[in-house]
Parts: sequence; structure tokens; C-alpha cells
Amino acid sequence: MTDRPRPPRPQHVMEVVERSQLSPSLVRLVVGGPGFSTFPTPPSIDAYVKIVFAKPELGLEPPYDLAHLRETLPREDIPVTRTYTVREVDETAGTLTLDFVVHGDEGLAAPWARDAQPGDPIVFMGPGGTYSPDPTADWHLLAGDLSALPAVGAALEALPADARGYAFLVVDEDGDRIDLTAPAGVEIVWAVGSEGGAATDLLATTMQSRTWPDGRVHVFAHGERESIKRVRALLKEREVPRDQISISGYWAYGRNEDRFQSEKREPVGKID
Ligand SMILES: Cc1cc2nc3c(=O)[nH]c(=O)nc-3n(C[C@H](O)[C@H](O)[C@H](O)COP(=O)(O)OP(=O)(O)OC[C@H]3O[C@@H](n4cnc5c(N)ncnc54)[C@H](O)[C@@H]3O)c2cc1C
Repeated sequence: MTDRPRPPRPQHVMEVVERSQLSPSLVRLVVGGPGFSTFPTPPSIDAYVKIVFAKPELGLEPPYDLAHLRETLPREDIPVTRTYTVREVDETAGTLTLDFVVHGDEGLAAPWARDAQPGDPIVFMGPGGTYSPDPTADWHLLAGDLSALPAVGAALEALPADARGYAFLVVDEDGDRIDLTAPAGVEIVWAVGSEGGAATDLLATTMQSRTWPDGRVHVFAHGERESIKRVRALLKEREVPRDQISISGYWAYGRNEDRFQSEKREPVGKID
């Protein structure tokens, strides 16, 4: 059998339609345009896209021939990707909504989103994703930091009206506690003081501030990698079966996404 190269993942080329400031740390971009017609229906509630960033000074035209660029460009000039949740798809308007955590001047995606203007191009691959709330679960446990807030917000809206459970959310400051729509039986518990991801115990500690109901739970827990490792330990302690859990690091404190993704293959990057 020959090793065939993987076919290139399709890229969707759209543009920024609208930018708004959701909270001190969150910027919302609505993106759309003719490129929306190539975007497939997302497979799940936690659907995400991989935004491709190419150095503007190279003058590359999207969609990019990434395989060719990887072979021909110096390493530092190869376009890189950043992962973002699709908060909402509006089929009628032909738009997607993405919410970006703005975390200072570091990084590519966050400063780009902070400064984005209507008409700016955006190129991404996807959507991927695997989690949608299990309608047969007895209760739901959602947990995360600001990076997971778009997915948690979408999950809360997708829950049946009679769903029960908790959404535990950690944020840096009071103003980041944005309004969310949730079933009456799902309590949203905010904790302020995540210290830009440095407070790794806060999420797991906050999750223990409420009594967990009996019955079969469906878990969605994502955010800063070390804080998610604490959550994983807590779920093991509470003997929640692995097949009822969606869990992963969405980013890692002190690492950019390129390093974070490559560390997934090393012991430090594993959350079993
Ligand atoms: C499936 C999935 C879905 C995701 N969905 C979203 C989403 O909807 N919204 C969102 O904002 N993020 C989301 N993320 C996380 C996002 O991909 C990372 O935060 C990414 O590193 C941001 O890229 P950047 O270019 O801004 O910073 P990078 O260049 O990757 O990193 C630069 C520096 O900023 C730090 N940093 C990165 N992210 C944060 C943060 N959130 N808070 C504080 N410091 C940070 C890094 O540790 C590093 O020191 C998601 C990740 C995954 C895997």
C-alpha cells in the first residue's frame, strides 16, 4: 500500500462583518460574505475552526496552498493556525459568530481580533468538534474559563428546557461575567480571579462549591491546560466514567498555540 498524502483541508475565505466588545476581555466578530456558501453545517455544539494567519508582508493570496508553502518557505514564514469556537451560525444572514479572549498584546489571533475592522479578510479550516449535550443525561456539568465560554454558552442554549446541572466559569474580572441564556434548572456559577490563567486551582475548587446531584452526568470541561488537569483529577476522584466526559486543554499558560499543540504529543500535554 502506498502512503497517499492527505488531501488539503478546504479553507473558507470570508470577511469581518461586525466587531463588538462583549466584555473587558471578550471581542465578538461576526464574519461572512460569499465564502459562507462553502461552510458545512457544524458537526456538534462545540464546533471550532482553525483560523490561518499568514504574514501580511508575504502578500499571499487565500486560499493558501499550505503543503507547498510548508515545503518552500522558511519555517518562520509558514502560516500558522489558531483555534476558535463557532459560537453561532446564522444560515439566513450567512454569518458565523466567533468570540475572542483578548489577553494583552501577546499572540496573533487576539490582537488581530481586537483591531479587526469590517471588510478585513479571515481564512479558516473546519469545522471540527465532537461534543453536543446528551439529552438522556440526568444532569450536566459544564466548566471552563473565558476561552471555553463560547462553547459553554452554545451548550447552555442547546440544553433541553428541563435540563439540570451547573456551569462553572472562571474569569479574570467582574465585567467578564456576561449574560447567558440557560434552562432554569442549570445554575451558572462564576468565579472571578483566574489571573490570566495562572490560578490553576480556581476552576476545580469552584466546581466543589456546589453539591453534585446523583445520577448520570454529562461533562464538558475545557480551558487552560493545567487547570483542566485539576478538573480531570477531580472527575476521577468522583468516579465519573470517561465516556461521559468531554475534556481537553484549549490553551496553556505561557505557551503559544503552536507549542501547546506540539506538546499534546508529550507527557506534559496529556489529559487522559
Ligand atoms: C477547540 C478549541 C476551541 C477554542 N475556542 C476558543 C474561543 O472560542 N475563544 C478563545 O478566545 N479561545 C479559544 N480557544 C483557545 C485559543 O485557541 C488559544 O487561546 C490561542 O492560543 C489564542 O491564540 P493567540 O494567537 O491569541 O495567542 P498565542 O500566540 O497562541 O499565545 C500567546 C500568549 O498568550 C497566552 N494565551 C493564549 N490564550 C490565552 C487566553 N485565553 N488567556 C490568557 N492568555 C492566553 C499564551 O499562553 C501565550 O503566552 C480554543 C481552543 C481550542 C483547542
